[in-house]
Amino acid sequence: MYIILLGAPGAGKGTQAVTLARELKLVHVATGDLFRQALEQQTELGLQAKEYMEKGVLVPDEITIQMVLERILMPDCDGGAILDGFPRNVNQARALDERLARQSRAIDRVIYIKVAREELISRLGGRWICRQCQAPYHEVNSPPKVAGKCDRCGGELYQRPDDMPETVEKRLEVYFEETALLIDYYTRAGKLVEVAGEGDVAEVSARIVAAVRHAG
Ligand code: AMP
Repeated sequence: MYIILLGAPGAGKGTQAVTLARELKLVHVATGDLFRQALEQQTELGLQAKEYMEKGVLVPDEITIQMVLERILMPDCDGGAILDGFPRNVNQARALDERLARQSRAIDRVIYIKVAREELISRLGGRWICRQCQAPYHEVNSPPKVAGKCDRCGGELYQRPDDMPETVEKRLEVYFEETALLIDYYTRAGKLVEVAGEGDVAEVSARIVAAVRHAG
């Protein structure tokens, strides 16, 4: 089963992907995490992605598509995957469809997590991430038990540089200009289900699991 989580930065894709991956026993593939790991390890890929990530714009398609396709064609993704942060424009979506079709596979469901703009800005502004396991926290909505430490692995929490106000504005602009077009693309393909992304994390999870299970 291949599932895409679609939504603006701050919609909760990462948080929900972790729960859904556990529930459905699927691998979680997050492009932002892959780029951040590459950046931390200073690989060629990381260096190529750096300037784009810092500006809050999309890393060029040829780099991104190759990275994701390589990842989802690894044996651990044979049973399927949850894609978080990919595709982010129609060109990426087409490349993904074409590559999966070559192996007689296809995207099963696209879950669009809808959250109002003001809420996105407030979520991104208060977001803290674990440096080790990438678990997200929010200083007001979901603070860690011990300040600055991850509840799951004890790792150090940090604020992503691209969660600073100017970059957030840019990322939201990119989202509304490029990524939101995918809502139409997947609606036409009959694959999109919209889920309200506001409210309690567990409630949103339940809505997403129900949307996937009823997909048939
Ligand atoms: P995220 O953690 O999903 O918010 O991604 C962080 C940054 O990584 C984005 O602002 C982009 O610069 C880059 N990125 C992640 N996914 C993609 C993608 N599918 N296409 C292009 N750039 C991406």
